[in-house]
Amino acid sequence: MADKFYSSAIIGGGISGLTAAYFLTKQGEEVALLDPDSLGGVIRSVKKDGFTLELGPNVFVKKEAIWKLMCELGIEHLAQGPAFKKYYQHVCYRQRAVKIPSNLIEFVLTPLISPIDKMQLLCRVFKSHSVNPSDSVGAVFRALVGGSSVSNIVAPAFRGIFGGSVDDLLFESVFPDMCNALQDGKSIFGYLKSKKRGGKREIFHIRGGNASLVESLKKAIAGKAASIKKEVCSVRVANSEDGGFILETSEGAIGCKKLYVATSGAATSRYIKGLSAEASHALSKVRYAGIIVVHVACNSSEPLPKSSFGILFPDGHMMGIMFSSILFPDMAPEGKELLTLCLGGTQKESFSLGKEAILLEIEAALKGLLGVHSYDLLGIHRWERAIPQYDIHHLEAVRELKMLESRYKNLHFIGADIGGISVPDRVALVESVLI
Ligand SMILES: Cc1cc2nc3c(=O)[nH]c(=O)nc-3n(C[C@H](O)[C@H](O)[C@H](O)COP(=O)(O)OP(=O)(O)OC[C@H]3O[C@@H](n4cnc5c(N)ncnc54)[C@H](O)[C@@H]3O)c2cc1C
Repeated sequence: MADKFYSSAIIGGGISGLTAAYFLTKQGEEVALLDPDSLGGVIRSVKKDGFTLELGPNVFVKKEAIWKLMCELGIEHLAQGPAFKKYYQHVCYRQRAVKIPSNLIEFVLTPLISPIDKMQLLCRVFKSHSVNPSDSVGAVFRALVGGSSVSNIVAPAFRGIFGGSVDDLLFESVFPDMCNALQDGKSIFGYLKSKKRGGKREIFHIRGGNASLVESLKKAIAGKAASIKKEVCSVRVANSEDGGFILETSEGAIGCKKLYVATSGAATSRYIKGLSAEASHALSKVRYAGIIVVHVACNSSEPLPKSSFGILFPDGHMMGIMFSSILFPDMAPEGKELLTLCLGGTQKESFSLGKEAILLEIEAALKGLLGVHSYDLLGIHRWERAIPQYDIHHLEAVRELKMLESRYKNLHFIGADIGGISVPDRVALVESVLI
């Protein structure tokens, strides 16, 4: 027996669960949002000595669904774009920070792409190219843009986003739209052109911290959704006639008609066994990248590349450095700069680095690579299960989740296993399920 019954229950109060709570309460549903931790999941902003530190996501791509949500919440005026119109991305290549080419002259001159790949790339991007859905991102891009482009540009970019290897991530899972377009006989140029029709993808940070999005969502659902600070330990089908589910928590049971699962991978695996042992097993195999987020401050007079987003690293423990306050000056006090460094990845030894080893990595990157003379450490934060890897194990898990959804019409998986890992993708997926 359940202690209390709700028309809808959401497990997990990160951006996926909070967005679901927002849409459901707007539709007049009686909602329970369960999370043992503070709401917002990995979106956390901390103020320290005049700096705004993002412990989780730093920037959002201005996609339609998240922008609509920001407007509905009345916080679109808080979105700030980069301080300069044109910004670059650098990559660490042979111990130097090298700009990723963004125009034809830079493409011709860049050392990041071999002469033969440059010649072949110009032909290949205009040709249609058959892809096998089970190909890795690395395999498809090697065939499209050549081995040197993948090693020096594509692989570091994917490490920076997913924390994993392009040779593990599946093309179909990471780029479902592009995979369909290429399978339909489009060239990569044709696909990119059709995507660009909507205009250049802008990015933004929320002034005062990205957690303002969380705070606004919390305010919007206050008094309408019951926020229950409990961990869900198991889920089973209710014995009632109209179906529904019983959620066992650490302190009692909760009943619901519709269930929205807004956790991912291993977290879902732990409580889903009562619905499907197969799905639970498949989810337990989903791999994660662990990320160590380090914040560092330095004087503005230090020789940081101006108008650069940051530096990506092709290998090693360091994944990337973001020049946070160069892009968004409000994130640091006058005369200072804020740098956000990410270390880790899917290799255990990278995530388990001790503090001394982390400091050595930072020293090598800031002093050795950038020539920064002096800096202060502001904080280190570890996310053990930061980013689910969209690899072959993930594909198996998604198949199981889809089967469960077709078995139970009131069960929906809206966590980061499905629809993309970025915050804008999370909002878009939830919107597509609920609106
Ligand atoms: C360091 C880092 C940097 C990132 N950078 C960016 C970026 O710049 N831009 C971008 O768009 N995206 C970025 N991402 C990705 C993005 O932030 C996340 O994928 C997204 O926020 C995940 O949201 P979520 O709600 O699906 O999951 P989460 O935020 O992980 O929330 C899941 C929630 O479920 C709860 N939970 C778990 N188990 C249970 C249980 N049994 N019962 C109840 N509750 C449970 C947890 O406590 C948690 O609050 C970054 C992620 C990290 C970690």
